[in-house]
Amino acid sequence: MPERRVVVVGGGLVGSLAACYFARRGWAVDLYEKRPDIRLPEHSGAAEHRSINLAISERGLSALRRLDPALEARVHALAIPMHGRMIHTRDGQQSSQRYDVFGKHINSIGRGALVRLLLDEAGSHERVTLHFCHEFADADFAAGRAVFRDLARGGEHVAVDADLIVGADGAFSRVRQRMMAAGMMNYSQAYIEHGYCEFSMPATPAGGFALDPNHLHIWPRGSFMLIALPNPDRSFTCTLFMPWSDFARVATAKDIVPFFRAHFPDALRLMGEDSVRAEYAAHPRGSLMYVKCSPHTHANRAVILGDAAHAMVPFYGQGMNCGFEDVEVLDRIMLAVLLQEHGKSSGQTADLSDDQLRRALDEYSAARAVDTSAIVDLALDNYTEMRAKVVDYAYLARKHLEGA
Ligand code: FAD
Repeated sequence: MPERRVVVVGGGLVGSLAACYFARRGWAVDLYEKRPDIRLPEHSGAAEHRSINLAISERGLSALRRLDPALEARVHALAIPMHGRMIHTRDGQQSSQRYDVFGKHINSIGRGALVRLLLDEAGSHERVTLHFCHEFADADFAAGRAVFRDLARGGEHVAVDADLIVGADGAFSRVRQRMMAAGMMNYSQAYIEHGYCEFSMPATPAGGFALDPNHLHIWPRGSFMLIALPNPDRSFTCTLFMPWSDFARVATAKDIVPFFRAHFPDALRLMGEDSVRAEYAAHPRGSLMYVKCSPHTHANRAVILGDAAHAMVPFYGQGMNCGFEDVEVLDRIMLAVLLQEHGKSSGQTADLSDDQLRRALDEYSAARAVDTSAIVDLALDNYTEMRAKVVDYAYLARKHLEGA
């Protein structure tokens, strides 16, 4: 049988993990990323500005473990466990709400460090070729052909033949757009009325964490909130989520310090007034949107994974985790079809015929479109939980302790 070839579009978190999985299952993998290689020192700042760090949970870790337990261990070595959320009340009190009585927890990890690790992992595989500065432009799914613009050569077009095209090109996925044009796909996208801006909280002068590092810190203030996640250099990355109408009121850098003084005075002391002012002036405001679509596949020729299929608001900390789970679920379903067809499994999904691949992709999409639509909704609901309801829990817990 001739070598089966998969083209992965997008060398972000999900695309690089997908490349590792396909290579392990016997596919020849070409991964195309429009940005330069962020592992090179001259491009290390080229990572698109989303969150500096993110929470990785069991959902995502499971996909890493299934690929290679050593990979999960390397991720843990870069991460800081967060055993609960720490609620900061207006009067400066802190109350810890543990996630799990048995110690299950989430982990804070730097986005850049995780992408670099996964790109290293993909690039170390002999069946994977990484192509940077290549922007996906178009595809002819029936012919199994993808077209890229080679950005290092003035946008020269490069056509590539593939048995399967995997779109892991993020929330504004061009692969998804081409699939919508080529077949019947239901699609919806919406922006929420809130945006975000990132700040930093440095290590203390003595070199320690300014807050307990093993919590996700939340300053819930009803219609808006500040959160902070720890970094290995003992700083925290803080994110202010707020309605656009409030961002318009807190219009300039000179407005932000009085705003923090009124709502987050304890955080402001630890962050420093000059730094908050400078970062508010320099950092972009991010918008927040979600995407639902169905199916996630096109015949036996294409599948979209990660944000390309189900971008979600970040309040459940599950966007990347769900994208990693996509990769794991797809792998499981492809292996199951292989086993059904052959009676015994070679473990090489590259052995699937076109018909069998189509069956696997159909099954994947039927299951995944429903599950990811549910988690997109849960992520929306959790915003109300984080910015408002956690206060009620903190209040109830305190009352309970006072009464005990
Ligand atoms: P992306 O990370 O968007 O990667 C897509 C890649 O494709 C990029 O490298 C891009 O350059 C490339 N690309 C795009 N177009 C093309 C093209 N035409 N050709 C070639 N390449 C292309 N998730 C969590 O699980 N936990 C969290 O705590 C968390 N916190 C978040 C906080 C914030 C503020 C935000 C905004 C998001 C957060 N997320 C979190 C969500 C998470 O960032 C995304 O779900 C995750 O980045 C999706 O990964 P992806 O690989 O699918 O897409």
